[in-house]
Amino acid sequence: MSRIPVSKSGARSVERDASLGRHEQRFLELKRGLEQIEYFCKGTVLKRMMKCGKAQCACATDTTKRHGPYFELTYKASGKTVNVKLSPAAAPL
Ligand SMILES: [Zn+2]
Repeated sequence: MSRIPVSKSGARSVERDASLGRHEQRFLELKRGLEQIEYFCKGTVLKRMMKCGKAQCACATDTTKRHGPYFELTYKASGKTVNVKLSPAAAPL
């Protein structure tokens, strides 16, 4: 995948590109981790119900009407606990 950063102004956008790069690297790390998990199946899948934050929404007052479930995978990688958001389709795996 090739992406050409568009920069309109000097130093500020360079800083942002650097932080983008870090995120990208982190994403790749997580992706690698996820690929390992597919083989070794370590870690715990958490199911979470989320509030959307709108006061008028039913989820604000009724916990059974929260949105989701959203799945999250927690595992340990080199001593750190890593959380990975999963799509509902990936959770059964
Ligand atoms: Zn809601």
